[in-house]
Amino acid sequence: SIVVTGATGHLGRHVVEQLLEKVPAEQITAVVRTPEKAADFARRGVRIAVADYNAPQTFDGLFAAGDRVLLISGNEFDKGRVQQHRVVIDAAKAAGAALLAYTSAPSSLKAALADDHRATEEALLASGLPYTLLRNGWYHENYTENLAPVLEHHAVVAAAGEGRVSSASRADYAAAAVAVLTGEGHENRAYELGGDTAWSFAEYAAELSRQTGEEIVYNAVTPEALTGILTGAGLPEPLAAIFAGVDASIAKGELEVTSGDLARLIGRPATPLADAIAAALKG
Ligand code: NDP
Repeated sequence: SIVVTGATGHLGRHVVEQLLEKVPAEQITAVVRTPEKAADFARRGVRIAVADYNAPQTFDGLFAAGDRVLLISGNEFDKGRVQQHRVVIDAAKAAGAALLAYTSAPSSLKAALADDHRATEEALLASGLPYTLLRNGWYHENYTENLAPVLEHHAVVAAAGEGRVSSASRADYAAAAVAVLTGEGHENRAYELGGDTAWSFAEYAAELSRQTGEEIVYNAVTPEALTGILTGAGLPEPLAAIFAGVDASIAKGELEVTSGDLARLIGRPATPLADAIAAALKG
């Protein structure tokens, strides 16, 4: 069957929904920590498996020979994500899975945030499992789900300089994962995934201005200043530093993706940023 970890997360939900449009529900297994959160999937016939990346034994017997597995990277930065991911890789290997696809980060991204992804890729390659690296670029939603302070202060505050971002919607990246899980010929390939048109923060502010009819500016600050602003807003300092580090990477062009892999895999253009802004403004 097709097994999806992180199935109750934002990306995982899109993946399961899109899989349900393509394959019978009984061929899909959603791996979740909290089965209550997956009640809607269970009702529709999706098999639910309960497991936690922090508890290796919960993955014993979860996978079967021939399974195609999507390992969605975790979000517990303080719990050793590489070891967590290795638990899934080892269990899939032991079971004889046919494919393990992993949601990674663009190879161009050198920020600290990417370290766990590079180490997981190495573990996956070393396992000998047939793999697909879905090197996901940035989500539109990283920005469009956090519009309240932008609209309040009429400013996009970032430390990204004039750097450009090839973002796409979570649904687009999910469609790429579904294409790999349900298609053929994706073994031992790495895909550099990103939106079709990279944008700068000045352009983002201009698009927000156009759609709201209000003047919204780009306030470019230094990574140090951004760290201060974010901790001032209540973010823990290590997390603030990670976000500021990502902006510094954007300034260097590290989140610009020009491969065309995403549109090719999903067989259509990726969702434009303007569409994600419009959807977010509609609420
Ligand atoms: P979410 O935070 O919505 O989802 C994370 C998923 O991981 C959840 O389903 C969560 O389970 C699951 N998870 C976390 N820890 C464990 C654990 N110990 N055991 C089992 N499952 C666990 O993130 P998204 O879906 O939006 O994105 C997917 C991943 O992509 C993120 O986890 C992160 O690694 C990365 N990411 C990428 C971004 C980008 O712009 N490309 C931006 C942000 C994150 P539960 O539902 O129970 O909480």
